[in-house]
Amino acid sequence: MHITDIMRGDSPTFSFEFFPPKTTEAVETLYQTIRDLESYMPHFVSVTYGAGGSTRDLTHDLVERIQHTTKLDPIPHLTCVCHNEEEIERILLRYAKSAIGNILALGGDRPVGIAYDKSRDSFQHAIDLVKFIRRFNESGTHPDRRGFGIGVAGFPEGHPATPNRLFEMDYFKAKVDAGADYVVTQLFFDNRDFLDFRERCTLANIQIPIIAGIMPVTSIGGFKRIAELAGGARFPAKLLRALQRCQSDPEMVKRVGLHFAIEQCHDLLDNDVAGIHFYTLNRSDATRVIFDSLGIPRRRNPEPSSV
Ligand SMILES: Cc1cc2nc3c(=O)[nH]c(=O)nc-3n(C[C@H](O)[C@H](O)[C@H](O)COP(=O)(O)OP(=O)(O)OC[C@H]3O[C@@H](n4cnc5c(N)ncnc54)[C@H](O)[C@@H]3O)c2cc1C
Repeated sequence: MHITDIMRGDSPTFSFEFFPPKTTEAVETLYQTIRDLESYMPHFVSVTYGAGGSTRDLTHDLVERIQHTTKLDPIPHLTCVCHNEEEIERILLRYAKSAIGNILALGGDRPVGIAYDKSRDSFQHAIDLVKFIRRFNESGTHPDRRGFGIGVAGFPEGHPATPNRLFEMDYFKAKVDAGADYVVTQLFFDNRDFLDFRERCTLANIQIPIIAGIMPVTSIGGFKRIAELAGGARFPAKLLRALQRCQSDPEMVKRVGLHFAIEQCHDLLDNDVAGIHFYTLNRSDATRVIFDSLGIPRRRNPEPSSV
């Protein structure tokens, strides 16, 4: 379903993010997660895209499998990194044929372990990909006459590549104006960062929905990985203090992390957030605990799927 239709309701959207697994065991964990979370009927689920190599096909396959065998609405991530125009067009044609409604258009993470020259990419920034998808939409190839809904990434704490936050907002505004329909943010732990980002967007006359990205801390190891993955997330002293108190007790760390995320979500809902996007890391337990604590009625109750 086109994101404009998904976001049309009065209540905030809830969505989950998965990544394509590489091992048979991890595949099983993911499909169990999908079965567990399907009954929550999220407004959409998104599937991340690797920085080059064979995991990219895993993304396309996973997106199509979710589309054809579940009641979930998958949104693939697509990145500029290591792609030329023909490749992107082939991917868009494949997704259009499968009636995938939306795409999250991203710059992409730098590939690790392979030689990479950014200047050889056809698309230097996510804005170029947004424009390309927009042109593709105009070709009328997609079964929805509007073509793909287009999402872009937002960074409430700022993106490390552009330390000048005024320039960054100019680039962001240009990316949105190029044809984005919605924003999903990088994870954050201090809601003031998100609310301030949203306000700065309003000042820049950015009026599309901004969905908040939430990832609960569930272990000390995971916590350290988040700092790495998110390119330096800001951890409030309140969270650090709580984790320090219980760092030798893994079960307590998890409870503290979940409690913190639940408080974050309640506060976002009180502040009329357009949607909350959970970074699930392909596991359902933490997301279910959070979701169940928010008191949100389930949208529909589908038959179990065949995944
Ligand atoms: C919700 C979400 C999902 C993500 N999923 C994935 C994924 O699946 N796969 C993956 O590889 N990565 C993913 N990422 C990470 C993302 O690709 C990287 O953080 C990337 O560095 C930034 O992506 P972007 O789309 O904001 O890029 P861009 O919009 O291209 O911005 C990247 C940087 O370039 C700057 N910039 C933009 N335009 C210009 C210009 N004209 N001149 C100079 N500088 C400019 C921006 O200010 C910013 O600092 C995700 C991030 C988020 C928030």
